[in-house]
Amino acid sequence: MSLNEDAIRSTVRDLLRQELRGVPSKGKWNTFQGWNRNGTRGVFSTIDGAVKAAHEAQKAWIGMRLENRRKIISKIRSALREANDWMSKEAQSETGLGRSEDKIKKNLLVIDKTPGIEILDSHVQTGDDGLVLTEYAPYGVIGSITPTTNPTETIINNGIGMIAAGNGVVFNPHPSAKNVSIKTVELINTVIVENGGPDHLLSIMKEPTIESAKELMRAPGLRLIVVTGGPHVVKEAMNSGKKCIAAGPGNPPVVVDETADLVQAARDTLLGASLDNNVVCIVEKEVFVVEAVRQEFVKNMQAHGAYKLSKDQTKRLEKIILLEDGYHTNKKWVGKNAGSILRELGVPADDHLRLLITEVPFEHPFVQNELLMPVLPIVSAPNVHAAIEMAVKAEHGYGHTAVMHSRHIDHLHKMARAVNTSIFVKNAPSYAGLGLGGEGYTSFTIASPTGEGLTTARDFSRVRRCTLKDHFRIV
Ligand code: NAD
Repeated sequence: MSLNEDAIRSTVRDLLRQELRGVPSKGKWNTFQGWNRNGTRGVFSTIDGAVKAAHEAQKAWIGMRLENRRKIISKIRSALREANDWMSKEAQSETGLGRSEDKIKKNLLVIDKTPGIEILDSHVQTGDDGLVLTEYAPYGVIGSITPTTNPTETIINNGIGMIAAGNGVVFNPHPSAKNVSIKTVELINTVIVENGGPDHLLSIMKEPTIESAKELMRAPGLRLIVVTGGPHVVKEAMNSGKKCIAAGPGNPPVVVDETADLVQAARDTLLGASLDNNVVCIVEKEVFVVEAVRQEFVKNMQAHGAYKLSKDQTKRLEKIILLEDGYHTNKKWVGKNAGSILRELGVPADDHLRLLITEVPFEHPFVQNELLMPVLPIVSAPNVHAAIEMAVKAEHGYGHTAVMHSRHIDHLHKMARAVNTSIFVKNAPSYAGLGLGGEGYTSFTIASPTGEGLTTARDFSRVRRCTLKDHFRIV
């Protein structure tokens, strides 16, 4: 067989496209229309209906062989890889937040690096008194309340983790991301059914509201609630009377000391802080840089493409992105492109611009608030100890995420102990802590208030012990 040059080129192009996006170039999941939805799989108008259907499905699911469940989860991952393009674009267009090209990366991360059944390793101990087996068992059906900032990522990540642990799940998504959330659930259910699994294992509310979220938290038949969002939903879940896993807000500080590789620190900070226009809870929200290297760090940020706002522009920006109280964030600007924010200030800019930076004092609302937009405040500190102290204060005790750029082991050690966050990233963009370019599995439900950190199927399981007296110590 002989291949002409054009055919080879086209094959290479296709392979490269697959490699870059992680999606096969052809496949039925490539478009939302490409597969037979066959009704509304898993979509319900009432919490009661959704919970009942998920319970039925869960009974059938745990009746299936583990090998078949593993196969189905692998098929779900493949289908989602194909669907990533439209899913990411729709998430961006429906919510108006972030950048679809970044959402593709985030979705791919959860598709590939959310742990499945393999993380549920059972444990055996034997001795003079016999044998004890410890296993991870399902809760049954879990209620999951998901955010607008990572809508599909959270459904995929929680969804895979929860069903890997043998559970069913009912989602109440953020109302402003309901359509893409529903489509993601329909797709996953369709894959499950096509491969011999039960329908409605993942269920979702057709018209989600805050009220339906509250109802889900109190629904009979659910033993565990998992919430991913801001302070209000966390508070509500903790008052629900049920066991909850709560993933709440953060305000991740970055400390840059005089020993840091300043080129790398600037590049990594720009990459992290601009990811999906800063809407991700773990990304860099403010920088504390030691005065001796401040100018060089700021220059490096500019060299990597950040736009530095003048004092006057910063003053005018406060009027735009903060509410009238001069403190809280104006939601209208959350997740918008840096270019559009700059244009609002009357400065011509295109949408390739990824980040605005500004030098402000510690008390500034841009520092103290989780802005969730590509505006990064930089604060000068007289020395590394003061920088760490400010970082700890600006993190507000959320215990969420922190970053440090330093080559001084004592400084890194001091910050790690002082800031006490679920994720602490050293010398990398924050998202390395999610396994994106860093080691380890991923999670988009980072439960700092309740302490689980990066949640997995293990956290969505009950631990059970089975004891056998006097037997099976066979050595
Ligand atoms: P949000 O709190 O507005 O909404 C999250 C979910 O909670 C939505 O489904 C919403 O409908 C529901 N909700 C909100 N208030 C509620 C209440 N009083 N009772 C019941 N349900 C309620 O948050 P968002 O804007 O979607 O997401 C951004 C916030 O979430 C940021 O603060 C971000 O840091 C945080 N977040 C944290 C994590 C994490 O893993 N820790 C992940 C993503 C987002």
